[in-house]
Amino acid sequence: VYSVMQTEPLGLHLVLDRAEALFADRAVLDRGPGGVRRTDYAGVFAGARALAALLADLGLRPGDSVATFSWNTAEHLCAYIALPGSGLVMHTVNIRMGAEETAYTLAHAGDRAVLVDASLWEVWAKVAPPDTLEHVVVTGEAPADLPAAHGGARVHRFALGTPADTGTAPAPAPRPWRRPADEHEPAAICYTSGTTGHPKAVVYSHRSVYLHALTLCGADAFAVSHHDTVLPVVPMFHANAWNLPYAALLAGAGLALPGRHLDPERLGPFISASGATFSAGVPTVWSALAEAVRAGRVPADALAPLERVVIGGSAAPPALLDALAKLGVAPVHAWGMTECSPVGLVATDPLTADEDERAAARRSQGRPLPGLAVRSAAADGEVPWDGATPGELEISGPYVVDRYYRPEKDTEDSFTRTPDGRRWLRTGDMVVVGRRGYVTLVDRAKDMVKSGGEWISSVDVENRLTAHPGVRESAVIAVPDPTWGERPLAVVARAEGAEGGPVAAEDLAAYLAESLPRWQVPDRFVFVDEVPKTGVGKFDKKRMRAVYGAAG
Ligand code: ADP
Repeated sequence: VYSVMQTEPLGLHLVLDRAEALFADRAVLDRGPGGVRRTDYAGVFAGARALAALLADLGLRPGDSVATFSWNTAEHLCAYIALPGSGLVMHTVNIRMGAEETAYTLAHAGDRAVLVDASLWEVWAKVAPPDTLEHVVVTGEAPADLPAAHGGARVHRFALGTPADTGTAPAPAPRPWRRPADEHEPAAICYTSGTTGHPKAVVYSHRSVYLHALTLCGADAFAVSHHDTVLPVVPMFHANAWNLPYAALLAGAGLALPGRHLDPERLGPFISASGATFSAGVPTVWSALAEAVRAGRVPADALAPLERVVIGGSAAPPALLDALAKLGVAPVHAWGMTECSPVGLVATDPLTADEDERAAARRSQGRPLPGLAVRSAAADGEVPWDGATPGELEISGPYVVDRYYRPEKDTEDSFTRTPDGRRWLRTGDMVVVGRRGYVTLVDRAKDMVKSGGEWISSVDVENRLTAHPGVRESAVIAVPDPTWGERPLAVVARAEGAEGGPVAAEDLAAYLAESLPRWQVPDRFVFVDEVPKTGVGKFDKKRMRAVYGAAG
């Protein structure tokens, strides 16, 4: 017997052609220097066509890679369409990576062009363009006095036009976007932050992006549908905004792109103005928003349209999940990694009779998405799914990385292979897995605190601390200790106007000792206005270790 089904490649042309033909009047909003701008799919696709034509005129050809250096804007969305839609490979640069790392990744990816948001020109200008870079396209409202060249690259401009009023005229049949000859052709490159050495490159294929976007739309995943307006708070330069732009285009969902400013005072009103029903971002964004609503700086009804938010990228404290639920927003906890396209686990409801089990499942990092498999491994083999034995999470599936692109050094130790031939990515996350496959993160292996030979989970201590009403955010790090090897230190941002005045270190130590063994309670609490964060809004433990570890 042989299959008789079509072998149409799973490519982004399938998403783009359909979205352009079917969803012309679906709204796309963004927030730029001039305030909220409103266009629609027709406007964005017209912009994407213009951008694709410009890049073709500049001599870019399928297989070439083109970087983006931008916030979440409609022009960036045009790039998300025009680049893979023309066979180009989109490299979304983390604009906060620093000039040197940026130049490294551009050279490593061999980018021939870069699209730079006008508001980021000064940041971009510090980057020494590598020899491969021939063109810089400044997007959005570029100043009149742009130089004609930057290093060896020529400077051009691109801005989204005013959407044409097509009235009721029949839509012209759009030209199809480029169909990859093979679904494994590259579509996008993302760099994962390197803890030692340079960032590592993950090259997504058309097939992996398509499969992952389709999976995200699933009712038991993110349930992104035509009824939604999707507001990616997660930057379009962080793991491709968790692939939400393609999930939205696939579903024909409205899009609301918040631009540069993600503070609650601007995000809150943008949620209400855009009617966003679905959003996603790292825990720190949501804890700031929940706190601003609690403190009366953002009216609670600003969040009225929002039905559900995905929280991921680092562990969502249970107190945050509760705070969002109280505000009438359903929190969805998800786990991901650039290497997994990026979402791998989603904490859906197990629908069991046991309420406690259901609550624990919703707080966990979740179960593998359709198409993925997980295992937990220790030095002596696979760990049982008993909800108690820790192991390292390994993950496998068609949108998980198989190997790094042009690695600097051998990275084979990041992978394993089981006797059935299946390839697994070692995540570096220590987890316990429950009997129904819910994965709970114990800690990132590199963030655990080893005190007197025993392990302390920094995430566990943080979750407990964040449940204290006097605490807005907290990060726990290991600091060297002459007696114990390492001891935990807590960096705490206090909640504003908490009852009983600002919380003190003794209060927090006593509070933790109610539920934790004494030796797991941090010896020191450092109070800060803001817990230091990385360029994508995660707690910057590397920096905190350098600052507070040295102070001993
Ligand atoms: P990096 O942060 O290293 O630049 P990623 O953005 O790909 O790279 O982050 C992947 C890591 O983020 C995971 O290995 C995991 O440690 C952490 N992470 C992601 N989501 C969660 C979550 N929901 N809970 C806990 N940790 C998470």
